[in-house]
Amino acid sequence: MNLFETIHTTEHEQVVFCHNKEAGLKGIIAIHNTTLGPALGGLRMWPYATEQEALDDVLRLSRGMTYKAAVAGLNLGGGKSVLIGDPRQDKSEALFRSFGRFIDSMNGRYITAEDVGIDVNDMEYVFQETDNCVGVHQVHGGSGDPSPFTAFGTLQGIRASLSHKFNNEEVGDYSYAVQGVGHVGFELVKLLRNEGAKVFVTDINEEAVQAAVDLGCEAVALDEIYDVDADVFCPTALGAIVNEQTIPRFKFKVVCGAANNQLATEECGDELERRGILYAPDYAVNAGGLMNVSIEFEGYNRERAKRMMRTIYYNVSKIFQIAERDGISSWKAADRMAEERIATIGKLKLPFMGRSHRFPGRERGHN
Ligand code: NAD
Repeated sequence: MNLFETIHTTEHEQVVFCHNKEAGLKGIIAIHNTTLGPALGGLRMWPYATEQEALDDVLRLSRGMTYKAAVAGLNLGGGKSVLIGDPRQDKSEALFRSFGRFIDSMNGRYITAEDVGIDVNDMEYVFQETDNCVGVHQVHGGSGDPSPFTAFGTLQGIRASLSHKFNNEEVGDYSYAVQGVGHVGFELVKLLRNEGAKVFVTDINEEAVQAAVDLGCEAVALDEIYDVDADVFCPTALGAIVNEQTIPRFKFKVVCGAANNQLATEECGDELERRGILYAPDYAVNAGGLMNVSIEFEGYNRERAKRMMRTIYYNVSKIFQIAERDGISSWKAADRMAEERIATIGKLKLPFMGRSHRFPGRERGHN
């Protein structure tokens, strides 16, 4: 492959290959765009079959982070990193500390966090080598589990969607089909039930379903969630569940949930639009986790985090306005909102050149 041609096409600023023979480190850091600020995005560990697969993944994910941060109104750019390896057998202190040193060498242009295959113990090792990681444990002054915030942010996205679709944002006046009652889904269900809403749930985990039923939800079979006669579909489990097979089954009027990459294709987003189903773009709705960790830059504060989640209401509303203004589908309007913000703010100053970050109230050290 022609590496520079690929990076030219995807418009990445920098791609760093990290290697350490003793630690068994094979990692890639991709920085897509730092116009708005330092590139922030999680570290993923996965047994990629080929190096090409790892590169494709890190390029795709880092680009997604640029758009997510821009729409969220954060002063952050898009980045991501991957480690090639099996999280079940290839982890070691040396691996994560070695990778932490590479991250530190980026001088703040890239900031990491947990992603698939990485847990809080791995991040503790990274954190021993660099300040440039967020989502660290609360004992270090970090923000901890973002799921309740992501759920609260999703509720704001739901309110914005209801307001746009029905001109009434009373959550309790509508019914919901929640796919997946895990960390985010269960918190969301609690919030919906607190508003008095009728909620249908499904999950492969029967205990999780039972806990939701105990809150007054109605359980449906896994595949039946697409046929439920509810106003709002809230995907909170898997990606690509809005697809050619499921859309014709929808009686929903709104799709708004926290799962990543809900649309199987962009065409599926257009099809929802044609059917009059309002789609709240996933990366705008589920930005709560990213917002939550971003607060670590100024010293983490739960109240501030909760306040910031409320901006999701305005961000999602603005996407719907742009869709109407330009006569385009909402998924495209979200991309346009991100690109417009990057273009406008980018004219105000030079691209982010790297600096040391201060994290008041946090202390680095051994476990
Ligand atoms: P989780 O693993 O805790 O929950 C996912 C739930 O979905 C689990 O209970 C699982 O049993 C269930 N599930 C799996 N396959 C299913 C299926 N076929 N049908 C029904 N249920 C199924 O994960 P989470 O942290 O709650 O995240 C949920 C989604 O939200 C993911 O797509 C994630 O990427 C996205 N997201 C999460 C956060 C966050 O703060 N945790 C932030 C942004 C986006």
